[in-house]
Amino acid sequence: MNIEVFTFNPIQENTYLLSDDRGRALIIDPGNSTATEDRCLQQAIDSAGLKLECIVCTHLHFDHIMGINFLQEKYHCDFYAHRQEEYWLRNISGMAAAFGVDVATRQLRLEKTLKDGDEIQIGDMRLEVLGTPGHSAGGLCFYAPAQQALFCGDSLFAGSIGRTDLPGGDLGTLISSIHDKLLCLPDETVIYPGHGPDSSIGQEKRMNPYLQYQR
Ligand SMILES: [Zn+2]
Ligand SMILES: [Zn+2]
Repeated sequence: MNIEVFTFNPIQENTYLLSDDRGRALIIDPGNSTATEDRCLQQAIDSAGLKLECIVCTHLHFDHIMGINFLQEKYHCDFYAHRQEEYWLRNISGMAAAFGVDVATRQLRLEKTLKDGDEIQIGDMRLEVLGTPGHSAGGLCFYAPAQQALFCGDSLFAGSIGRTDLPGGDLGTLISSIHDKLLCLPDETVIYPGHGPDSSIGQEKRMNPYLQYQR
């Protein structure tokens, strides 16, 4: 599995392009928000001859979905998220404006849903869907066991955890999600968060100041 990361939009969100050796691809959390960012992502897909099969979202905060319109128009692919994240689609521009970001996105409709325990299989790539509410009510992480890679959205960051002050957020729930679903993965698992640099489960277990307390 090839993993390419792009950091997009004013919130510096990490967009992940995954592909297998036969060119079948999926994107996690497309945050591309300008013509330049659209072109950058399109070039990565087209120049490698990739076939983009779907978009999956860890959650639907505006910084993780700004590129969905562009990708759907170009590649006609479905996007998937947890049903409880639909809330965020009602007023994308309003949410973004609260963060000082101008978003001109078409209304999005969540047509395909994912939940804890589901699996995503695209070509040779298999991702397990882990339900990790807390940063957002329908937050998900995607774990690729064969590659020991975890795409954890805004649940867990290198040295930090996601904010829990937005609607649907809850600190106790987030800490439980991280302990129950993420820290039990092998220490070598590389984590690819929604913002900032990558890390590993072992590193975060040892060093993350938010995870040192007993529940
Ligand atoms: Zn978020
Ligand atoms: Zn984010």
